[in-house]
Amino acid sequence: MYHNILAESLCFSRHPHRKDDWLWYSMGKLYYLDWASDNEVKVGQAFKTSGTRSEGERDKIWLWHKRLGHASFGYLKKLFPSLFSSLDVSSFQCDTCELAKSHRVSFILSSNKSLVPFSLVHSDVWGPAKIATPAGARWFVTFINDCTRMTWVSLLKTKGEVSSRFQQFYQMVETQFHAKIQVLRSENGREFLNHDLNQFLQHHGIIHQRSCPYTPQQNGVAERKNRHLLEVVCASLFGANMPRHFWAVVSASYLINRIPYSILNFQTPLQTLHHHIQTPLIPNLEPRIFGCVVFVHLHDHQ
Ligand SMILES: [Zn+2]
Repeated sequence: MYHNILAESLCFSRHPHRKDDWLWYSMGKLYYLDWASDNEVKVGQAFKTSGTRSEGERDKIWLWHKRLGHASFGYLKKLFPSLFSSLDVSSFQCDTCELAKSHRVSFILSSNKSLVPFSLVHSDVWGPAKIATPAGARWFVTFINDCTRMTWVSLLKTKGEVSSRFQQFYQMVETQFHAKIQVLRSENGREFLNHDLNQFLQHHGIIHQRSCPYTPQQNGVAERKNRHLLEVVCASLFGANMPRHFWAVVSASYLINRIPYSILNFQTPLQTLHHHIQTPLIPNLEPRIFGCVVFVHLHDHQ
C-alpha cells in the first residue's frame, strides 16, 4: 500500500516500508517520471506541462474513438457521458473517419425488429476483395440477429462455403443459445441458391426470404451492416497505416457488437442479447487501438 502525497498539482506516492522508492504520477497533466535510485528523493527532475481537466477528457475521448474502431462521437457520449460534461460532440472531427466514410451510401433504415432472438437472421456476402488475407480469404459472410443486431462474421476462400458456414452458425445458435432460426433473409445471389443450403433449410423448416434482383435495399439490415463493417475496417487500416491484406473485418465485428445503436435504445447488441437470453461467456476484452504494438508472453517451456 502506497501513501499518496499531494503537493499543489503534483502527486506522488510512497511505500511505508520502502523509504527509498518513490513513484511519480500525473494528475491530468504530464510530469517527468523518476524512480529514485537512492535515499534522496529526486524531485528536481519533475517537470510540468500546461494542461486542463477538459484536455485530459478530450484525450480519453480520442483514445476510445480509436479503440472502438472510430465509433461516432455521438455514440461515445452515450457510452461515456461523464467525459463529455464540458465538451461538445461537434468539437470533434476525425480526418480518418472522413476518409473512411466518404463512400457512404444510405439505405432506408427500418425501425421494426423482431422480438424473439434468432427468429430472423439477415445474411449477406461481401467480396471478392482485390487483396486476399494472408490465409487466402477473399469474401466474408455476415449473420445478423435481427432482434439484437449481434453480428457474426466468417471469412471465406470461396463463395461456395456460405452453405457450410450457415449450417455451422445454425448449430452454434442451437447449442449456445438454445434458440431456433426460423427465417433467413438474404440477397438473391447464387451462393444463397445453393442446393445443399436449400436442402438444409427445408429439412429444418427455415423460411428463406430473398431480395428481388438488383434491389439490395430489401436486404437493408445486412447491407447497412456491411457498410458499417467496411467503414470500421477502412478507418482502422488508415489510422494504423497498415496494408490492406490485414482486412480487420473480424475485429470490426467485435467492436460494432459493443457500440450502442439507436434502434436498440442506445444499448449495445451484446447488452441486448444478454437482456433477452441466457448467454454463455462471451469474451469481452478491453479493446486496444488497432495496429498498436503488443508483446506476446512466452512461457519457459515454449
Ligand atoms: Zn475517426
